[in-house]
Amino acid sequence: MTSLDKNHWFTEISDRDGSAFSLRINKLLEEKQSPFQHVAMYETTDFGNLMIIDGCTMVSTRENFFYHEMIAHPALFSHPNPKNVVIIGGGDCGTLREVLKHDSVESVTQIDIDQVVTEMSLKYFPELCTSNQDPRATLLFDDGIKYMREAAPESIDVVIVDGTDPVGPGEGLFNHAFYQSCLKALRPGGVLVQQSESPLMHMPLLLEMRGAMKEVGFGALQTLPFPQPIYPSGLWSVTLARKGMGFDGFRACDPQALQTEYYTPGIHQGALSEPPFMARAFAGE
Ligand code: SAM
Repeated sequence: MTSLDKNHWFTEISDRDGSAFSLRINKLLEEKQSPFQHVAMYETTDFGNLMIIDGCTMVSTRENFFYHEMIAHPALFSHPNPKNVVIIGGGDCGTLREVLKHDSVESVTQIDIDQVVTEMSLKYFPELCTSNQDPRATLLFDDGIKYMREAAPESIDVVIVDGTDPVGPGEGLFNHAFYQSCLKALRPGGVLVQQSESPLMHMPLLLEMRGAMKEVGFGALQTLPFPQPIYPSGLWSVTLARKGMGFDGFRACDPQALQTEYYTPGIHQGALSEPPFMARAFAGE
């Protein structure tokens, strides 16, 4: 049996969940304390490179496709013609790469507060950064909360909130004021999508997010679960909210043309079928 000694294993201890998750590592590649957070990169034995922010697992080479595809494609295919997209956070650039697979998209502005995350991703996840030079992409390093507060009304089709957990600089991405800014900046029929933590471990937070989205005036919500092997519980979710109208299905795509690893129209349809434990929790809203 191998012991989980610090030199060979990275362990994320999740106090709030009473759980821990470990990956075996070869070595620490680099670590930096930015003005906003501590960013570390490890080489693992089986998951490729691994990015850690403030002690929490963020992205690994092997499994990041689940998250990046599910935060991008269901929202974009739920909009009839998404042209202008904003990504808040997303500094590893994996979500940006997925968004730019959509031909309808004319512009994507990504606003991550921390340039160090993107610098590290360019170095250790170059495959996630292959679309950074796309002429439709603009990368800004600033506070996404401020950016959305100042965004022109009715100027955006899809807002993607690919942020950290609701602690540190990501805290203000989960409250009424932020959702109000998003609602104002979206065109009618526009879609907001946000990573919404684990439906198994963090249901109170998920209900709080959904409540705040509804209270500011989003018409319809969808929470889609998906596997997320390196996050607490292994089950994660995104929540979509639509401005001014309900969801009316989604456009089907050819997954081979889109070159996805996980997303297909069938997976999208399946994720819309709420498991009873989630449906029961949402019924009480
Ligand atoms: N995409 C990753 C994954 O697979 O889970 C995790 C997300 S990581 C890229 C979250 C990003 O949100 C970090 O780069 C962090 O700097 C950024 N962030 C946190 N608070 C922010 C804020 N207020 N404005 C903009 N970006 C923020």
